[in-house]
Amino acid sequence: MAKQGNIQIASENMMPIIKKWLYSDKDIFLREIVANGIDAITKYRKLVEMGETAEDESNKNYCIKISVDKDAKTLTVEDNGIGMTENEVEKYITQIAFSGAADFLAKYEKAGGDGIIGHFGLGFYSAYMVSENIEIFTKSYREGAKGVHWESDGESTYTIEDCDKAERGTRIVMHIAKEEKEFLDEGRIRSLIEKYCAFMPYDIYYNFTGKDDKALNDTHPLYLKNPKECTDEEYKEFYRKTFHDYHDPLFWIHLNMEYPFRLKGILYFPKVKSKVELERGKVKLYCNQVYIADNIKEVIPEFLTLLNGVIDCPDIPLNVSRSFLQNDRQVQKISKHITKKVADKLTGLFKTDRKKYQQCWNDISVFIKLGCIKDEDFYSKVKDIIIFKDLNGEYKNLDEFIGKAPQAEANAEGESAAAEGDKAEEKKEEQPTTIYYISDEAGQAQYIDMFKNAGLNAIVCDTFIDTHFVSYLEYKEPTKYRFMRIDADVDAALKNGEAGKDEEADKALVEAFKAVLKNTSVAVKAEKLKNAEVPAIINVSEFSRRFGEMNAFYGIAGADADRDMTLILNTANPVIEAFTGLDEQKKTFVANQVYYMARLAYKKLSPEEMKEFAENNAALLKNYID
Ligand code: ADP
Ligand code: MG
Repeated sequence: MAKQGNIQIASENMMPIIKKWLYSDKDIFLREIVANGIDAITKYRKLVEMGETAEDESNKNYCIKISVDKDAKTLTVEDNGIGMTENEVEKYITQIAFSGAADFLAKYEKAGGDGIIGHFGLGFYSAYMVSENIEIFTKSYREGAKGVHWESDGESTYTIEDCDKAERGTRIVMHIAKEEKEFLDEGRIRSLIEKYCAFMPYDIYYNFTGKDDKALNDTHPLYLKNPKECTDEEYKEFYRKTFHDYHDPLFWIHLNMEYPFRLKGILYFPKVKSKVELERGKVKLYCNQVYIADNIKEVIPEFLTLLNGVIDCPDIPLNVSRSFLQNDRQVQKISKHITKKVADKLTGLFKTDRKKYQQCWNDISVFIKLGCIKDEDFYSKVKDIIIFKDLNGEYKNLDEFIGKAPQAEANAEGESAAAEGDKAEEKKEEQPTTIYYISDEAGQAQYIDMFKNAGLNAIVCDTFIDTHFVSYLEYKEPTKYRFMRIDADVDAALKNGEAGKDEEADKALVEAFKAVLKNTSVAVKAEKLKNAEVPAIINVSEFSRRFGEMNAFYGIAGADADRDMTLILNTANPVIEAFTGLDEQKKTFVANQVYYMARLAYKKLSPEEMKEFAENNAALLKNYID
């Protein structure tokens, strides 16, 4: 028979490892010690609730008291919870990784483990990261229990003895190590409490005096409340306090679910104007009102970390160090569920209160679009509630937009419609619908005017993310939509059919025009447009413009957004109509002036071009008065 034995762990070898490696961050020791006090109170109250013990009327102001003694170099955390007997101290404190929380839960399973934080039996020892010695003074709730004093330097030995302690509960006295004296600083301690213990369920005091004390924490944070009972003012107040942002949030989503796991929280959409501001978001993750960490990517879908928020999920499978998650399917499920819930809330609002949704839209659209780009799942859930403002100032989703606003092909009349009839049929089946968009209402004013006069519509895409977003939509819906900036497809959108088109005459016009035009890099084309008032207009290929914009966005040098610029001469305009009949001098003057005007409506002229344009204008004025 093979011999059996227990593996022995020598504590003097283990302690340095625990101290050094178990926790990623020293600061968390305070959370662990305070959380133990909170657990101790929760346990005591559970016993009372279950009738295991009678509540001690003289000691029922349940709270945690923290204090610092600079001279003695101690940091003390005291609770009036369950306390420990000598046996319990030996068992729970001295045997590392023997968690009293697990023991308690096993024993009182019927009461449910709700609200008990501890789990692994290692939290207490984290205090040795900052202490050279720790004392415990504790007295159990049990009848006739004596006070117990335990002390250890955290290396490998400890002492334990009776002591006088009048009140039920536990006092942990940490003798702070020399190198760690920052933990004797009141400001430091307060800020740690604010970070890690802000929502713990019992009052936490610093230097408790017995009168007019104000707890440092909020024991009933708003996110735990029923959303129906929360007012806008409360949401804003909670936001200000939690995120120290004096700007009001624009919109929020209150998550509150019990199934398939428990999760509560509030996500706020802050005001953002630029890409840089976007990256400042922070979603704080809590487990039973105990802070775990910010922006944990396993639990919180990446795009939501652009927001500010708190999420409390008692069911997340934490490992010992609490800041790391077990690599668990459950975690993925939680993350997916959060995405789904956010999408549900937004679609719900869209359906039930479209007006309010539209009012918020400008503020939340950047987040939603980024969310779509970063998370295809999210996109598929919200794609129908992505809306765009059109030229009439109405907000529509793309299908509504296509349905209600016939595009260029459908608008073409007469011969052209007949000629293109077959082609249009085909298009409907496999070709995406062209949607025109504007990126700058002021800069593209002339194009917008022409579109409106021609009875065409377009959507406004003027946030910094829209170029990306329309590309993303094309990639996701290749058979549905194709996007053209309003200045990218002018000839197709605005041409007035094929009626009266004279190929020969157009060719002659273009040749005559090019012969005198100083800018030789621009292509020239003649087209009869629906609007007669404009002599010419610049058209830039959507593809090359976008390519240039992307390069510029990623800082690639030499990006030229103006490649493939075409000057469309409008044969419906009287000046263009008369052009070929002019003498050489007039041709030169008119051609260049027409080009400059078209260029100006599209984009700035080069300095030399601007100079000549100004000179020409001066000459025109002179002629006018002569
Ligand atoms: P955990 O909290 O994960 O169980 P800890 O190392 O933090 O592990 O604590 C070990 C055990 O010591 C606890 O489960 C509890 O039984 C006991 N304990 C620690 N602090 C206190 C306290 N303030 N009051 C009562 N018991 C405590
Ligand atoms: Mg603990």
